[in-house]
Amino acid sequence: MGEIRMGLIGKIWDTGRVAEAAPPVPERAKGEAVARVSGSVQVRHVDAGSCNGCEVEIGQAFSPVYDAERYGVRLVASPRHADALVVTGPVTHNMADALRKTYEAAPRPCLVVALGDCARDCGMFAGGYGVAGPVSDFVPVDVQVPGCPPPPEAIVAALRGLSGR
Ligand code: SF4
Repeated sequence: MGEIRMGLIGKIWDTGRVAEAAPPVPERAKGEAVARVSGSVQVRHVDAGSCNGCEVEIGQAFSPVYDAERYGVRLVASPRHADALVVTGPVTHNMADALRKTYEAAPRPCLVVALGDCARDCGMFAGGYGVAGPVSDFVPVDVQVPGCPPPPEAIVAALRGLSGR
């Protein structure tokens, strides 16, 4: 029995983590910030005015099926604990200050991921009376994830690009 167990553990050890290679780090996210978070990245999500479609896909990215945590990515409840912000939605007038304050509250360097078409360029809500602008108008954006909404695979790939795993 002990031999079988050791054999199984040995096989698990030899096999290691079975996954595709981590995607390349996006150009703007290279350098000191990525070196600091390499292997593990703590993420604070900010909904700046989303329709919640992107949130459904973020939920999937952290579900047991896509399991972003196995790549060293964790969602945290406070920007004080965050290496990166993942921002969804066009930035609404009501959320513009909150987004700026969240970014200011995070330790430096803080990476910013604009997740979804709305975060990148306001998407289908461009020109809406409640829309103040895309995320890059308020905080510096390092990584953009296109899609309306982006699929969980794309979200996990972008986050792996930050954790490097
Ligand atoms: S990109 Fe699409 S799913 Fe995401 S917040 Fe905008 S409209 Fe909703």
